[in-house]
Amino acid sequence: MHRTHNCGELRPEHVNQKVTLSGWVQRKRDKGGMIWIDLRDRYGITQLAFDESKTDAEVLKRIEKIGREYVIKATGTVIERYSKNNNIPTGEIEVFPDEIIILSQSETPPFTIEDESDGSDELRMKYRYLDIRRNPVREALMLRHKIAQETRKYLDTFDFVEVETPNLIKSTPEGARDFVVPSRMHPGSFYALPQSPQTFKQLLMLGGMDKYFQIVKCYRDEDLRADRQPEFTQIDCEMAFVEQDDIMKTFEGLMKHLFNQVKNIKIETPFKRMTWHDAMDKYGSDKPDIRFDMEIHELTSLVQNQGFKVFDMVEYVGGICAKKAASYTRKQLDELTKFVQKPQIGAKGLVYVKCNEDGSFKSSVDKFFDAEALKKWADAFNAEPGDLLLLLAGDKRKTQEQLCELRLEMGNQLDLRKPGTFAPLWIVDFPLLEWDEETQRFYAMHHPFTSAKTEDNGFFDTDPGKIRANAYDMVINGVELGGGSIRIHNREDQARMFKLLGFTTEEAESQFGFLMNAFRYGVPPHGGIAFGFDRVCALFGGSDSIRDYIAFPKNNAGRDVMIDAPAPIANTQLSELELKLNLKPKH
Ligand code: ASP
Repeated sequence: MHRTHNCGELRPEHVNQKVTLSGWVQRKRDKGGMIWIDLRDRYGITQLAFDESKTDAEVLKRIEKIGREYVIKATGTVIERYSKNNNIPTGEIEVFPDEIIILSQSETPPFTIEDESDGSDELRMKYRYLDIRRNPVREALMLRHKIAQETRKYLDTFDFVEVETPNLIKSTPEGARDFVVPSRMHPGSFYALPQSPQTFKQLLMLGGMDKYFQIVKCYRDEDLRADRQPEFTQIDCEMAFVEQDDIMKTFEGLMKHLFNQVKNIKIETPFKRMTWHDAMDKYGSDKPDIRFDMEIHELTSLVQNQGFKVFDMVEYVGGICAKKAASYTRKQLDELTKFVQKPQIGAKGLVYVKCNEDGSFKSSVDKFFDAEALKKWADAFNAEPGDLLLLLAGDKRKTQEQLCELRLEMGNQLDLRKPGTFAPLWIVDFPLLEWDEETQRFYAMHHPFTSAKTEDNGFFDTDPGKIRANAYDMVINGVELGGGSIRIHNREDQARMFKLLGFTTEEAESQFGFLMNAFRYGVPPHGGIAFGFDRVCALFGGSDSIRDYIAFPKNNAGRDVMIDAPAPIANTQLSELELKLNLKPKH
C-alpha cells in the first residue's frame, strides 16, 4: 500500500496512529541529531521527523541520499508536535517514520517549487509538470475544475443536455483564421478545426434536443494576447423556443450561481443592460468596466471654431473627468501624454484642464481658451473644484477608443478598479454588420447566423449598416465573458444574410448547404451563447492572463515549449498526405 492518508490530512486526533504517506520532498533540514522532511502532495504538507539516535542505520542511509523532489514513502507514528506550525493545517502533528522507501529520485529541479518561484515564464512552461506542483498553479486548476462542475450542475438542473460535437469539420465562420488538418484518405482535402460548434448546436436544436451545452475546445488561428490562446475552451449553449430575454435570464442565473458557489459572493440579477451605441459613446468600448463612472463626454461643438486648430480640424473632441486629480503634477501629466501617444493607443496629444480648488482653471490650452470657455467644459462634465479634465481629439471611433484606454489607465491610477468588486452588465443591440474599408464589404459583427431586429428590416435595402442584431454580450469588469444571439431560423433570411456578406449563391451552397438544407425541415426559433471558459476562470481567480488557468498553455508565439509543438513532420507523413512544402526563404 502506498498510503493510508494524504499529506494534508493528519490532525491531532490521529496521534499514535501508524500511517503511511507518499509524496514529494519539499525540503530536508538536518539540525544535527534531528532531521526533518516536509512531504508534499496535492492535499498539503506533512512534516516527517527523525531522531537520529533512534532511527535505523539503513533508514538513515536512505535519508542521506534524499534530495528535493524525490518521491518517497514513509511509514511511522503520528506524534503531537512540540512546536506547532499554525500556518499549515497539519501543523499540530508530525510523523516519526521507522521506514522510508525511495520510490523515485529527482534531479535538482530547474526552478524552486515554491509559491514565489525563481523560474522565468518560459522555463516554467518548459517544465510545466513541475510548475503544476506549485500551489498557485494547482489552485488555479482546482478553481477551473470547480467552475466546470458548478456549470454542469446548474445547467443540468435546467434540463440542458451535454452533447459532444466533432473536431474535424469544415470551416466555421467566427471571423478568425481556421486551423486545418489534411486528410490522408482524401488527398488535397482538409478538415478545419472548429472555431466554435456554432452550426452543430443549431442543428441540435433542429434535432429537437431543446437545450444543449458543452464545455468544448475551440480553435482560432489568431495573433495572441494575454486573454487569447490558439485553443481555448467555451461553455457553449443553445436553446430552442426562446427569445433574447429568456437566454439572458438563464445565463445571468448561471453567473449568479457560479459567483455564489465558487466565490461565495452574491451578485444582483437582472444585470444592467446597455446598448452598444451607449457603450461606445460613454465608454469607448463594447466591454466597459463599470466598476467606476468617469464616463466619456463629447465636447466637439463646445470647443470648435474658437481658433484652436487641433480641435477645429477633427471630427470629434471628447474627454473624461478624473475626480480629485487636479493635483496631478506636470510629470504625471507628461506621463499620461506619453501613455496616450503609445503606438498601441495612437493619440496625437493630450489636453488637460485642472479645475483648481479656488475655482480657477489651469489648462494646457490657456493660450486659446479663457476661463469662461473652460468653465463651460467643466460644466459639461459636472466637474467640481479639484477635478481634472482630460481631452482627446480625432476621428470619432478611434478617439473614443483612445479615451477608453485613458479612462482605464486613470481608473488604475486612482485605484477605482477594485479587485473583488464585480460589475456585470449586458451589452445589447449590436450592429448586425461591420463595414470593412479595406475589402469594401460588410462582415457579420457576430456571425452570419445572427438574426436582425424585426424593426430594422427596412434597412436591409437602404442602409444595412444601421441594422441592429439580436445579439448580446455579457461583460464583467471590462472582460467580455461571453456572447451570443438569437439565430436566423428560415432559409430566406439566411440566404439574404449570406448575400449581404458577399457570398455568391454557389459559395453559400458549398459552405453552408447542409444548414440551408436542414432549414427545409422544420426549424424551432432558437438562440444561444458561448462563454470564454478560460476567461471566466481568470476573472474568478483575479488574474489578467488566461494562461494561468490552462494546464498546458501555449506561449505568445503559439508554441507549446514543453512538447515543442508545432514541429515539422516526417517526409513519409507528407507523402502519405500527398503534400509538398513550399516554404518561403527565411529572412
Ligand atoms: N458561436 C459564438 C461564438 O463563438 C457564440 C454564439 O453565438 O453562441 O462567439
